[in-house]
Amino acid sequence: MSGSCVIGILAIQGDFQAHSLALARLGVQFGFVRKASEFCGLAGLILPGGESTTLLQFLREEELFEPIRQFAQAHPVFGTCAGAILMADKVENPSQPSLELVRMTIRRNAYGRQLASSIQTIDPEPDLDTGPEARTPLEAVLIRAPVILEIGREVRVLARLEGRPVLVRQGLWLAGTFHPELTADSRVHRYFCRMASNQTLL
Ligand code: GLN
Repeated sequence: MSGSCVIGILAIQGDFQAHSLALARLGVQFGFVRKASEFCGLAGLILPGGESTTLLQFLREEELFEPIRQFAQAHPVFGTCAGAILMADKVENPSQPSLELVRMTIRRNAYGRQLASSIQTIDPEPDLDTGPEARTPLEAVLIRAPVILEIGREVRVLARLEGRPVLVRQGLWLAGTFHPELTADSRVHRYFCRMASNQTLL
């Protein structure tokens, strides 16, 4: 996958390097973002996993909260795990502020002990990929993952685990509770890059 679009990766804390490798494998250009001026010219933004409380603190200190919210009004944003927690409009366990983008209630560290950090197999919905791997199971790495408890009507589920959504999309926004950047399967990143280059339907 190539093209001229550049995807930004919030590079404060967490596994932003792994996202850059996932994009590099697809031949997609990326840039690490640490301040508001670096959003300029980006086609999309990835909010990586890590620790959502630490990320929140940094976003506040660096005054990145509003710039990200504004960027998200016109560009695709993809949050994984802690990044998805930042995107949810309601966070539990405990309740904490967020960017309030995706209409979903998310509960931090909510899988039972066995699933909390594990590798699971999930079934993607047909529109995640139309290529040769379409509909084949996807490996999902969970690391102290949150659970999506409720979604709004405008939120589309792209993959589930044990019946619960683990990858969702609302318009320009994609959020996953697992870590696709930690497996060799590129489908989720490819999907996001298609969003960023306007190749998927809203
Ligand atoms: N448990 C973390 C949080 O609540 C998320 C973990 C992750 O991003 N892998 O922020």
